[in-house]
Amino acid sequence: MCGAAWTLKKAAPCLPLARSGRIDPSAHAALSFAMSNGRGFDADVILSGGGLVGQTLALALDQAGASVIVVDASKPAETLAASFDGRAFAIAFASYRMWRALGLGDELDAVAQPIEQIMVTDGKLGDGGRRGGPSLLHLHFDRAELNEDGEPLGLMLEARHVRRALDNGVKARPSIKMIQPMSVSAIERDPAGATVTLTDGKRLRAPLLVGADGRRSFVRGAVGIRTIGWDYPVTAIVATIAHDKPHGAVAHEFFLPNGPFAILPLTGNRSNIVWAEPRAAADALLKMNEADFLAELGRRFGDFLGELSLEGPRFGYPLSLQLAERMIDARVALAGDSAHGIHPLAGQGLNLGLKDCAALAECVADAMSVGLDPGDVSALERYQRWRRFDNVSMALGMEFFDKLFSNEIRPLRAARRLGLAAVNAAGPARRFFMKYAGGGAGDLPKLLRGESLAA
Ligand SMILES: Cc1cc2nc3c(=O)[nH]c(=O)nc-3n(C[C@H](O)[C@H](O)[C@H](O)COP(=O)(O)OP(=O)(O)OC[C@H]3O[C@@H](n4cnc5c(N)ncnc54)[C@H](O)[C@@H]3O)c2cc1C
Repeated sequence: MCGAAWTLKKAAPCLPLARSGRIDPSAHAALSFAMSNGRGFDADVILSGGGLVGQTLALALDQAGASVIVVDASKPAETLAASFDGRAFAIAFASYRMWRALGLGDELDAVAQPIEQIMVTDGKLGDGGRRGGPSLLHLHFDRAELNEDGEPLGLMLEARHVRRALDNGVKARPSIKMIQPMSVSAIERDPAGATVTLTDGKRLRAPLLVGADGRRSFVRGAVGIRTIGWDYPVTAIVATIAHDKPHGAVAHEFFLPNGPFAILPLTGNRSNIVWAEPRAAADALLKMNEADFLAELGRRFGDFLGELSLEGPRFGYPLSLQLAERMIDARVALAGDSAHGIHPLAGQGLNLGLKDCAALAECVADAMSVGLDPGDVSALERYQRWRRFDNVSMALGMEFFDKLFSNEIRPLRAARRLGLAAVNAAGPARRFFMKYAGGGAGDLPKLLRGESLAA
């Protein structure tokens, strides 16, 4: 078993059925469809993939009273190491409310950097250096304008901290069974449920299987959900840098001719950069010695934060767009990057995945509270209706911005600069963008409002 943790608990005694033949909704908190129903289920939900989205979903389903088994291919010793993932995530305030509602607040509050302002600039190479900051034709978002509940525009969190907090959160709930390192290698379905075969030959069965297994999702392919998408000819260079001057909790996004360049504030005098360059140029920058890299960085960055130094290694992430043609199939749902892998220019990919978690957990909880099984078609269709439009429109929005801003045709350049200035001048438009990017717009699931799913 490759050292995998394998501890399935014994089934709990059956819950009483209400007179209608349905499970009494008042038993919600203790409810577990799989355990109250003798059809050989090992859990209410099996998750293939226990990354950032998979572990968040496991916590949400567990809070809703569903029993969960998570199967993940990776080794925790590797994924929890600081050298595994150099990214820092811009987390919308609504997503952050969910992590708080799932009990991760204490650990994450200590390492989160609030974003107070966002500056979006159509900058040419060297603009930042010349002016010591963004041009006049920019877009400026300020927390003070939105401030409904004293929440920031978003929070910056380093991937290593999020992975650690999720891992601790899952370990603190022994009712979540984590099987790792292990992969799902085959799937069979029947009208009542899905059976997965693991790479060690073990078989597990549940009424619902969720593919939270990332862009190359095995689950998505195995159930025949097709994708549309393409590779962008760019790689995102990611690194954490230290600087002399404080960043003032301002996040900057410069649209440079080769692609977006973001400076994202971290705790202390540190920032995370996401710098898109054509593949070959990015490879060269990743291999360059530190002094030369810092000189190239300085040409984009300018000197408004003082002297720069690298904190840790540089990472490269080739970028692509990938959208699943649907998010559900019989007894199966997709969540996170398995359903939508988008351009990271506005830092929304994980946020979309977290919204999937909140919506799917609530659909499952509501189905179970009226005696339906967690993979009932009505619950899955409700989930897809709730999430698909947001996911597709965000992906296409990022596509539009990428094409618009990576284009050097003069009239287009002038038009987009005027567009930025126009949105900047219009208070309601600016506030709408802030609310949308903060995840606070639309019909929000309970967890994104900061409410618990526990009965
Ligand atoms: C440069 C960059 C910057 C970004 N910045 C931001 C940001 O600021 N804000 C934001 O919201 N988003 C951001 N994103 C997007 C974000 O990183 C992703 O959306 C997010 O990591 C997706 O998480 P996931 O859990 O869906 O997928 P993954 O992180 O890919 O996790 C998939 C998991 O499934 C497991 N797995 C795979 N196959 C199997 C199998 N067959 N069986 C079992 N397990 C399996 C893997 O081991 C892995 O743990 C950024 C992306 C990039 C590239």
